[in-house]
Amino acid sequence: LNKIVSAEEEAEAITQDGQAIGLYLNVGLSQELENQSSALADGVGLYRSEMPFMARDRFPGEEEQRLLYRTLLDKYAPRPVTMRTLDVGGDKPLPYFPFQEENPFLGWRGIRMTLDHPEIFLVQVRAMIKASIGLHNLQIMLPMITSIEEVKEAKRLIRQAFYEVREEANREGLEIRKPKIGVMLEVPSVLWQLQELAELVDFFSVGSNDLTQYLLAVDRNNPRVSDLYQSYHPAVLRALYQIAQVANQHDIPVTVCGELAAEPAGVMLLLAMGYSKLSINGHAIARVKWVIRRQTEAKMQDVLQKALALMEASEIRDFLNMELEYLG
Ligand code: PEP
Ligand code: MG
Repeated sequence: LNKIVSAEEEAEAITQDGQAIGLYLNVGLSQELENQSSALADGVGLYRSEMPFMARDRFPGEEEQRLLYRTLLDKYAPRPVTMRTLDVGGDKPLPYFPFQEENPFLGWRGIRMTLDHPEIFLVQVRAMIKASIGLHNLQIMLPMITSIEEVKEAKRLIRQAFYEVREEANREGLEIRKPKIGVMLEVPSVLWQLQELAELVDFFSVGSNDLTQYLLAVDRNNPRVSDLYQSYHPAVLRALYQIAQVANQHDIPVTVCGELAAEPAGVMLLLAMGYSKLSINGHAIARVKWVIRRQTEAKMQDVLQKALALMEASEIRDFLNMELEYLG
């Protein structure tokens, strides 16, 4: 079995019609698996930078962060590494920084916290930019974006950090390039601001975990409502489809980095919608490639039309799973 799995893992991520799908990794959790799969991916689609912050008992300093980021950028260069800025709050506490809120998922999370503490944000992006000197494969991604002002403010701070680092780099004769900047699409308000966002940033990444939670108003971690957390809810499908269409119209690269991108039924659906970049955990590579390699354009169009016409999450899931069974 190991042999079959590894052959599947090493196969190219292309559909039956020859469309290449970009496969990226979500990293930050298990170093070991990441080591095994790093050679099999096109880069990192989501580095959850909060993980090392959560594992410490104080904020890591700039040099400490730079070394961490350098290791990751170095390991994947010249492939791109998408580093998400600190996404704490919600279900991700920092032991040394108090969050006390009645509704943490609707509270001080991600970009909201870091824009209130530009000193934390600046140290982090300076460390990222410094770490990328000479490698040029850094992309910076902003979590929990709700409005245009947040993107503008974050971009202003990143620009400031870039100029500071560039001055130091120039003094030492080192070459430095501006990182690409992107936003997570995971708060439903962005669905109605996609065009404006596309003009402000270099790429999108869909956080389907939070997008589902916020679209359906269902806590992603509450077992009492876990039946209502429906990744195949028709509203979620429509939102995902709309994002793919607008992104493709505006020629802005879009990745899906939530768990949906690692589920076989999700992969089939996302490809059918026009997504061509997925970011997944290393252990899902074999199964995701298996699904990709069995898709044809005609079949995907058929699956998409049928899935979009169904109005119940359970019907959609059953339909997709039945289609998967036909694949073998
Ligand atoms: C998401 O929300 O889908 C996502 C990828 O980010 P996280 O799970 O870290 O919130
Ligand atoms: Mg998220």
